[in-house]
Amino acid sequence: LPGRMMDFPLTLTHFLERARAYYPRSEIVSRNPDKSLHRYTYADFHRRTCQLMNALTRLGVKPGDRVATLSWNHHRHLEAYFGIPTMGAVVHTLNLRLHPNDLAYIARHAEDSVVLVDRSLLPLFEKFAAQVPSIRHVIVIPDAGPTPEGMLDYEKLLAAEPVHFDCPALDENSAAMLCYTSGTTGNPKGVLYSHRSIVLHTLVCCMKDVTGIGEQDSVLPVVPMFHAAAWGLPFDALLTGARIVMPGPNLDPLSLLDLMAQEKVTVAGGVPTIWLGILALLDQEPKKWDLSAMRTMLIGGSAAPPAMIDGFRKRHGLVVMHAWGMTELNPVGTMAKLKQQLVHADSQTQLEALSTQGFALPYVETRTVGEDGHTLPWDGKTMGELEVRGPWVAGSYFGGEGADRFTADGWFKTGDVVTLDAEGYVRICDRSKDVIKSGGEWISSVTLENALMSHPAVLEAAVFAARHPHWGERPLAAVVLKPGQSATKEELTAHLAKQFVKFWLPDDYVFMAQIPRTSTGKFLKMKLREEHGDHLLK
Ligand code: ADP
Repeated sequence: LPGRMMDFPLTLTHFLERARAYYPRSEIVSRNPDKSLHRYTYADFHRRTCQLMNALTRLGVKPGDRVATLSWNHHRHLEAYFGIPTMGAVVHTLNLRLHPNDLAYIARHAEDSVVLVDRSLLPLFEKFAAQVPSIRHVIVIPDAGPTPEGMLDYEKLLAAEPVHFDCPALDENSAAMLCYTSGTTGNPKGVLYSHRSIVLHTLVCCMKDVTGIGEQDSVLPVVPMFHAAAWGLPFDALLTGARIVMPGPNLDPLSLLDLMAQEKVTVAGGVPTIWLGILALLDQEPKKWDLSAMRTMLIGGSAAPPAMIDGFRKRHGLVVMHAWGMTELNPVGTMAKLKQQLVHADSQTQLEALSTQGFALPYVETRTVGEDGHTLPWDGKTMGELEVRGPWVAGSYFGGEGADRFTADGWFKTGDVVTLDAEGYVRICDRSKDVIKSGGEWISSVTLENALMSHPAVLEAAVFAARHPHWGERPLAAVVLKPGQSATKEELTAHLAKQFVKFWLPDDYVFMAQIPRTSTGKFLKMKLREEHGDHLLK
């Protein structure tokens, strides 16, 4: 028997309309490259987004066309984020930290027809643009300086357009945004979010037990808008009328702390490497910044070390929320909240739960599968590959590559090796390509590096597989010490020996000034393996 309710589409059009009608005074603050602040309201944002949609229509952008951005997090990028999908086209966020060859591959694969590019990023754009024949127009988002000949100026384009746009009726299943995975294994793959997947993800993320974002919040996405839709934070904020604070290109800990304090940020999100830097600075000058407005700091993208979660909590009274997600998921899948029975537990028990990747958000379903293809028990011990399904999980990749990641019974294989406990808390042990296989036993690099980062002298640690003549692979640790601190191999081994059986202990330590990072700020273990993989053979 069919239900009798309206078939009202879940599209981003409603976000824009709501911003105009209900929250015209909400503010969007955006930091310019010179650190000055640009401020305007949702009403201004709405008008300019309509102008952008008119301009793109005039340039011939049609429904389904891919319009790319190569931009930092700022208000004009936000206009593109909402304008492009609301007119029925697809916003494709290019990752400005990728090599030009990768960008050429991705933009060609996406068949981008128009590119919006920050003027400061033109040197990067020019390194790959000629390899992308589909590009018809280049729109330069200006800072200081002129727009080169043959390219269009964003501000001049907008100024010539009316501030009203007749939004087309869109199918909720039509594509809204295209994000590529970073391609650490094989070529990057495109994930095509639909309006519906973004809307449902936003509604669930704004629930009280997830981020609980609402009009009173001031939301700072440190995570780039090109990294898995900035984890949905721009959507969460705009739907609820929250204040949006954009950091621009200034992502060093000092700039971020200044911005958080000055703009009374209540929710900020970023990868652990960003937060490690912030914690180190806060520890040096604990009284310098007033962060009393901060309600929660979202950390995800790679494992948040428990010592960091605890350091923020105990030394600075700051609440960390640890989340797991993937580009393939729009992107949040699980979040570490304390269930009711843990609210009064001792601090160590709480820390253990907060350090897991959390349990699944409503409508995301999780299971673990062993090497033999069988589903594994939720016992908190047995490691297997995490598989997920739900309305904001990719059903296939754009272009059809990577079909082996989707199971015949409708699940997506994440490539993460995890345990699931009886309460549904997921604990990531490794990405399958990072698991250390020592004489047939699996060693979790994430667990070891978390323990190393709890040593008072250690700033950062990444544990990876080094080749070994007898065991096949053995753990090797890359360690960055805090400035002015020291720790020897013997001291670090003694620290770990308190928690781990002997065969888990790293065979050696490589001390370095910085651990190499991926384009999204995670530890780049592939590079560590390339450079130090033979360390134990010498
Ligand atoms: P990439 O890392 O390839 O740039 P993604 O950001 O989509 O692209 O990465 C998703 C992966 O990041 C997950 O499969 C998982 O391995 C890792 N990840 C994400 N969040 C966490 C977390 N909280 N803890 C540990 N690993 C995480």
